Amino acid sequence: MDFSLTPEQEALVETARAFARDHLKPNYRLRDQEGRMDRPTLKRMGELGLFGIELPEEIGGLGQDCLTAGLVVEALCGEDLNIGYVTINASLDAQIMRSFGTPDVVDPWIRGMLSGELIASIALTEPGGGSDAANLKLRARRDGDDYIIDGEKTSISLADQADFTVAFARTGTTEARAKGISSFLIPLDLPGISRTSFDDHGGRSVGRGSLFFDNVRVPASHLLGTENAGFSQVMAGFDYSRALLGILCLSVARVSLDAAWKYTNERFTFGKPLSEYQGVTFPLAEAETQWAGARLLCLQTLWLKDRGLPHTAEAAMCKWWGPKLAYDIVNTCLLTHGHGGYSKDMPFEQRLRDLLGLQIGDGTAQIMKMVIARQKTKA
Ligand SMILES: Cc1cc2nc3c(=O)[nH]c(=O)nc-3n(C[C@H](O)[C@H](O)[C@H](O)COP(=O)(O)OP(=O)(O)OC[C@H]3O[C@@H](n4cnc5c(N)ncnc54)[C@H](O)[C@@H]3O)c2cc1C
Repeated sequence: MDFSLTPEQEALVETARAFARDHLKPNYRLRDQEGRMDRPTLKRMGELGLFGIELPEEIGGLGQDCLTAGLVVEALCGEDLNIGYVTINASLDAQIMRSFGTPDVVDPWIRGMLSGELIASIALTEPGGGSDAANLKLRARRDGDDYIIDGEKTSISLADQADFTVAFARTGTTEARAKGISSFLIPLDLPGISRTSFDDHGGRSVGRGSLFFDNVRVPASHLLGTENAGFSQVMAGFDYSRALLGILCLSVARVSLDAAWKYTNERFTFGKPLSEYQGVTFPLAEAETQWAGARLLCLQTLWLKDRGLPHTAEAAMCKWWGPKLAYDIVNTCLLTHGHGGYSKDMPFEQRLRDLLGLQIGDGTAQIMKMVIARQKTKA
């Protein structure tokens, strides 16, 4: 087992880390206040090759493995977790689009996404189906060379900023459940589409909202894969995004822990630095231990994916443990900073707000534990 990075991985990680330090960290709070991603920053990330690391070079990626993509997400997103929604959406959508779409149709969208010019969303959740994701009502019916889409998607990240979405719609009967769902690439400027946004606790630069489809005509060429096979397509992708989301959240815990350790040397109480008090350092030491274990799990999951080995249970472990542990660690780090940590002048309260959303988005802890249990009990 080799834990060292290749020179190429080191160079990519260093590029991402420098970009985070120089371009993402300074405006973390501003983006939260403005409630928007800033497009020039995304474009700069595209120029540096920070989207779709794992996609082939001919389509605008870097042709790296998924483990390297995870290391880049980790280096990039500790200072602003929200950027991770854009990078992970790009990876998840591009994987589905490349595997199942017609190249002439999907390639320009993938290129736009990887260059940072286009923002992608993924639209699965509906008012009646979140955890019960196969319970979809959004309807797509064939009409000549088009499909006509009707219904609502809700709780969609980047809903009011995205240029296009990969959406899941019912093409079969309701009784067919998962086997009656298809996926479509839908440009979000088509006639009949409207959007709303929510007033969320965190993740405010990403934003969440609903997408309404009223008799929206989508060319049949935008069907991704075959009719009624859409559900399994997205579920396979989730094993990847769950590992990335785990390491994404842990990267926020990492920068918080680094700041907290530093502070224990700087702050004196009762004539001694905080680092002299085990009541302060032991919670941080425990956090370090759990952080190291969870991070290794995420890297191992990506390693399994790169080798084509089963990793559904491991990915679900990353998705429930990473966001929960990161939230708890950042909470400890906030408390370590005393009253200053509670202020908006420090990033901890925003980090907590941002992290909380990822305990729900992409599947809750209960659903992840169901996935793990199902994997462990199947014959
Ligand atoms: C920040 C954020 C970003 C999101 N981004 C997107 C996105 O981009 N695209 C998208 O499609 N969706 C997105 N979602 C939606 C997200 O995937 C759903 O919210 C999630 O899957 C849970 O569904 P629900 O909210 O309908 O909760 P429900 O399914 O109604 O569940 C409610 C509660 O009951 C629990 N529960 C439900 N069923 C069971 C069960 N069988 N056993 C035990 N517990 C159960 C759940 O864990 C949860 O705690 C996002 C959500 C958030 C918060």
